[in-house]
Amino acid sequence: MQSLEGKVALVTGASSGIGAAVATALAKAGVKVTAGARRTDRLAALTGGEIFPVKLDVSDEQSVRDAVAATVERYGRLDIVVNNAGVMLVGPVQGADTSEWNRMVQTNLLGSMYVAHAALPYLLESKGTIIQTSSTSGRTASAGSGAYAATKFGINAFTEALRQEVTTQGVRVVQIAPGMVDTELASHVTDPAMLEMAAKLYASVRTLRPEDVAEAVLYAVNQPAHVAVNEILIRPTDQV
Ligand code: NDP
Repeated sequence: MQSLEGKVALVTGASSGIGAAVATALAKAGVKVTAGARRTDRLAALTGGEIFPVKLDVSDEQSVRDAVAATVERYGRLDIVVNNAGVMLVGPVQGADTSEWNRMVQTNLLGSMYVAHAALPYLLESKGTIIQTSSTSGRTASAGSGAYAATKFGINAFTEALRQEVTTQGVRVVQIAPGMVDTELASHVTDPAMLEMAAKLYASVRTLRPEDVAEAVLYAVNQPAHVAVNEILIRPTDQV
């Protein structure tokens, strides 16, 4: 275990679900946290320690650069990045509203790549840790999840390449792949049949709580500097 006291983190998508739980858990552990998302009212409501709310749209590269700069300007360093912001607009390929594909690629994939790119110089300086949020959908694609799964498979590829580039420079790259977590994620699905299916699926298991995923993130960042937890797969016990 290493002390997290005084470390500085940027958590994207911190206004709800997993991101809010991770930001809170890190702050409680003594980390100074920049919490980024578009709904700043939600960020302002986060409590538990030093949390700096920043308006962030990860699909906008300038907004990403500004959030990283604001963090470093305020706290002087950056040790932990939790690349968590994401949307899941699932539905079949046939007849899909391709603007939803665009939104998922822009947010989940390109957005997280922008964050890694902007934060990397500071992580190299601090020998920090970057957490990349994938999914069980980044391991197995299934009917109806094509575009979402493509973004998560893409995150895995980018993550492994980044790991190989920076691990010997002391930066730890961690991919976390949760199964079903009780958050707002599935509620944004616009396809009525998929929305109903997702609701039923989530209701059929004892889902993970966002705090369960936050615990896993804490486990990875708490390791001593020579230990890199590269992948975490965490599912509800009931999820097949
Ligand atoms: P939520 O919908 O509760 O949270 C998503 C977060 O992403 C919100 O804070 C939202 O904030 C933020 N976000 C969305 N678009 C943007 C954007 N353009 N810029 C900045 N922030 C954005 O869902 P989860 O907590 O479940 O999702 C978090 C991550 O976990 C996602 O990457 C998701 O794919 C992944 N995941 C979730 C699983 C689950 O079952 N819930 C399973 C596996 C992975 P705002 O709208 O305020 O900008």
